[in-house]
Amino acid sequence: MTTLLEIRDLRLQYGQFKALHGLDVEIAEGEIVAVIGANGAGKSSLIKGICCTEGQTSGSVKLDGRELLGLTPPQIARAGIGLVPEGRRIFPSLSVEENILLGGQLGQDHGGTPWTLERIYELFPDLTAKRHLSGTMLSGGQQQMIAIGRALMTNPRVLLCDEISLGLAPTIINRLYEQLIALASEGLAVLVVEQAMRKALEISDRYYCILEGRVSLSGISADADEDRIAQAYFGR
Ligand code: ATP
Repeated sequence: MTTLLEIRDLRLQYGQFKALHGLDVEIAEGEIVAVIGANGAGKSSLIKGICCTEGQTSGSVKLDGRELLGLTPPQIARAGIGLVPEGRRIFPSLSVEENILLGGQLGQDHGGTPWTLERIYELFPDLTAKRHLSGTMLSGGQQQMIAIGRALMTNPRVLLCDEISLGLAPTIINRLYEQLIALASEGLAVLVVEQAMRKALEISDRYYCILEGRVSLSGISADADEDRIAQAYFGR
């Protein structure tokens, strides 16, 4: 598989506090990569580093050979990085449909079938009947579908998902992940950041475990050894 997103020696700091100490992470087309780690390990900082939304960064983040570090968040979205942010960030004053359409404003054609509202409703039929309601009136799982739909409307080549399972029932989490697996099988590269280690390993091809801002272990998810992962996760 060809590497699509190549992260080399990524460092990120908030003021004087160093959160990432030089991460190397790769994602190929059609691959699901899980980033696991305990509270405060640096998982969200990795996403912030890729999207240049917070902190001072150095190193390299290349999408299909193009350097993203130093670009603005809208430029990064247009380059092909879709973000499903932690906490979903649904705008209460906007309807479900308006929330989804926001993504289209950052959309760019990268050669695949462009995402449309119709395609989003096909992917998440639950949203169809609720399209005119305020986004925040929907259940947590449905709000997560809006957040994924909004990110897909940017026509991403890489989808970054920050803790999408947080606070959701297992059946809903399974449904969301089934959709992400289906999207990856069509070529989308998906990076999922998760504290829910078992689930993340179950649905991913490869994983990176982060501990105190460093990759403490990485490998093929199907071969993951529970003891080694626990050690890499908790640092003991
Ligand atoms: P969680 O699962 O709790 O979201 P995480 O693995 O995503 O954890 P990060 O949010 O990346 O961890 O945080 C990594 C470290 O950076 C933590 O020590 C955190 O307190 C610190 N940190 C995160 N954001 C900021 C910020 N804006 N300013 C200062 N420190 C921050």
